[in-house]
This record gives sequence, structure tokens and C-alpha cells, in this order.
Amino acid sequence: MELQLSNTLTRRKERFAPADPSRVTMYVCGPTVYNLAHIGNARPPVVFDTLFRLLRHVYGEGAVLYARNYTDIDDKIITAAIERGVPIAEITRAVEGAYEADMAALNVLTPTARPRATENVGAMIALIEKLIANGAAYVVPSGVYFSVAADADYGKLSGRAQDDLKAGARVDGEDDKRHPSDFALWKSAKPGEPQWEAPFGAGRPGWHIECSAMIEEELGSPIDIHGGGVDLIFPHHENEIAQSECAHGRPLARVWMHNGFLTMDREKMSKSIGNIITPRELIEQGWQGETIRWALLSAHYKAPLDWNDDLLRQSQASLDRLYGAALRLRDVEITNFEPPSAFLEALADDLNTPAAIAELSALATAANVAAKPADKAKAKGELLAAGYLLGVLLDDPEHWFRASFGEAAAEIDKLVAERVAARAAKNYAESDRLRDELAARGVEVMDGTSGSTWRRKT
Ligand code: AMP
Ligand code: ZN
Repeated sequence: MELQLSNTLTRRKERFAPADPSRVTMYVCGPTVYNLAHIGNARPPVVFDTLFRLLRHVYGEGAVLYARNYTDIDDKIITAAIERGVPIAEITRAVEGAYEADMAALNVLTPTARPRATENVGAMIALIEKLIANGAAYVVPSGVYFSVAADADYGKLSGRAQDDLKAGARVDGEDDKRHPSDFALWKSAKPGEPQWEAPFGAGRPGWHIECSAMIEEELGSPIDIHGGGVDLIFPHHENEIAQSECAHGRPLARVWMHNGFLTMDREKMSKSIGNIITPRELIEQGWQGETIRWALLSAHYKAPLDWNDDLLRQSQASLDRLYGAALRLRDVEITNFEPPSAFLEALADDLNTPAAIAELSALATAANVAAKPADKAKAKGELLAAGYLLGVLLDDPEHWFRASFGEAAAEIDKLVAERVAARAAKNYAESDRLRDELAARGVEVMDGTSGSTWRRKT
């Protein structure tokens, strides 16, 4: 199978071939851990988790190294700690825990490495020293800066010319840098702020150098794939490239991938605009994690995705249909666990999740019409294996339909049992009455050879 990926750096969709198929490397910029992730922040980890799943399928589970970092030192974190009057680590560890719980709810696999910036400061200092020695960085009282003039290639990812970069690059406290586009590698220590000793003066790292250093520490370079949201192309990824390539004289990453924005009413979801909703709020409203994940994968990753309740309702209905097919085949033992090639080809075409979702739907249809035991077993195996690659259909089908009823599920169990008893006693009037009552609660009862089960009506 040939994997094709869009590369922001070359502006083309290209055949993907890792440098070493037994050691495929991917890095995705992770969260700045100062407050809860919103559903827009969840798009990159869900998109790249799907790619991680695909890469593991193609190259083998142990062959893919995927690092996603925690930015646990940053202006916003320092401000939050001062405002709340608590130590920084108290905030960052709590937010990290919440992030991991949210990711687990969205069926995001744990990356193979989750480096924290604060635990890699030594590597950042070493990288900065190298840049100073190379003449690509300079030391002034406010900190250490990368000199864009020293990098003839600067701007190659975003396509911005250096002349365009002068406007809007003013940052408070950086009056002593030489060129408006130069960016901080190291910020000199200020009273009350966290600081580390360094040969060029005590201080703390800038955001961009954190990722460059963690990539090198965890994976080496060049890595095969570097990912993140489209807003990170400039300046963050441009600066990661400049730092790493000037320090090491080799490319940082071969393929650069960027997901489009998640929007609400066509406006980017962002903390600063305030139009945010978090995965946990949606889960508190009764939406299941898989429904949220499905919604996030319903558009191609490069395209914008407008978020609303309709999208969630449609996603739930699609998943209900798949779980309905799985429920009907619950007693069938699978003999294979291999996604069919049409499904794989959809994903391999630049992670075309809408096409993969259409294939998954077709697999549910095939499962619904399968009659022979061997066909049923094959259909179920294909459906579940394809679901696994998308990170859905991981729930037990009966549990899936119960879950959205919360505490009412036990009551429904009781009504279903009463109906089974009424039928056994040939009290059909009572059994029909109970069926109607269940229907009024949005429950559909399915009578099978091994008893009665129920599901949410779709
Ligand atoms: P931040 O916490 O703002 O640094 O963002 C963490 C990650 O979420 C980055 O990869 C961003 O590109 C991404 N991101 C932030 N907002 C959105 C959005 N509305 N849609 C898609 N991705 C986003
Ligand atoms: Zn980064």
C-alpha cells in the first residue's frame, strides 16, 4: 500500500517513505498546560493519533516512535501561577492530568514519548550554545536571540520573505534585539520567575527552542513527520526549522503536516475570542467520547471544520448505525481482524477520513445483510478492524447504547426484564404496553435467540 501525505514544506502531496521503516518517527506540538484544552485543541491530537494508528498498521506497532510534548514553562503559565498564587508545577501537573483524561476519552493512544519542556532544559541550553558558536545567535541583556539574517533559508516553510517579517514583530522587553524578526531562544531571568543557570546567563527557554531540543532528544533528526495546527506554521515551525537546521546542518523533518482550524460560526475556536467548548463539557452534556472523535474526523484534516450540535447528532447517528450492526453480530466469533483494502486506501490517501468513514458505513451495510456464518464473521472482523484504525467501535455495543441513558439505564433494564416475563407468561397485552412505554423513552427492544437486548432508537 502506498501512503501519500501532503507536505506543507514542498506544497505537494507526496509518496511517504520513512528513512528507516523499522523506526518511523513523528513529533506533534503538544499543549501549553495552563488551562483545559478546548475541542479545537483536540483536533491535532485526534488527527495525528489516526495517522499514528495507520503508521502502526503499515510499519508495525513497535516501529513507530511518536513524541508529543508538554509545554510546561511559558509566559501564560507564569501569569496563571501568579494570578492564582500557586506554584507553577501545581498548575502544569493538574492540567496535564486533565489533558490525558480528555485524550483517553477521545480514544487517543498514548504517544510513545511525552517529554516535558522543564525536563529538557539542558538540551535546550546545549542547542543555544551551538547556535551562538555558529554565529546564528547572539547574547544581549534581555536574552539570547536567533539571528534570522544568519539563515539564508529563513521563511521556507511559510513562504514569507524576510522583508515581510518586519511589521508586527515588536515584543515587550525585547528592545535590544538586532532585527525585528529575530526571536528569543532564551529570556534573561526576572525576579519571581522560574530560572535555570546557563553559560550565557540565568533565564528560561523560549517556546520554539523547546520543541527543537525535545525532537532531537527523543527522536534525533531528521524526523519523518512533524505535525501541528495550521497556526503553528509561522512563526513556531518556521523557527523550529531555523534553529535545528542552523545548529545541526541537516533538515529537522522531512514531511510537515498541518491540520485546519476548528471553527464555530466560521470563526476560529480560540481562548482569546472566548468561543470555546471543552471535550469534558460535551461529555457532561451526555455526548460520548467516540461521538466527539467521529465529529473531529468527519472533515478532511486540512479543511476547516465548523463545530455545532448538528454535527454531533449526525456523528452519533452514524456511530449508532455501526454499533447496531455490531450488536446484531454480537454472538458471531471473528476469524480475521483486517481492514479491507478500500478502507485502507482511503486513509492512505493523505488521511482522507471522510472517505474512510464512507467505507466504514458500507462495511456496516455488508454486516447487516450477511447471511452465511462465514460472511458474518468476515464482515464483523472487517468492521471492527477498520473501526480500530479510526479509533472508534472500541466500546461494547450494548454498553454503547446504554451509556447515553446514564442512570436511567437500570430502570430500562427492569422494564425490558418485565416485558420478557410478560411474554413468557403469554401476557401479550402487557408485553405490548411495555414495548410502547420503552419506545416512548426512546428505546428499541430487540428480541433474539439469546434473549432480549435494547438500544437507543436512532
Ligand atoms: P495552543 O494551546 O493554542 O498552543 O494550541 C495547541 C494546539 O492546538 C496547536 O497545535 C494549535 O495549532 C491547535 N489549535 C488551536 N486552536 C485550534 C483550532 N481552533 N482548530 C484547530 N487546531 C487548533
Ligand atoms: Zn513545537
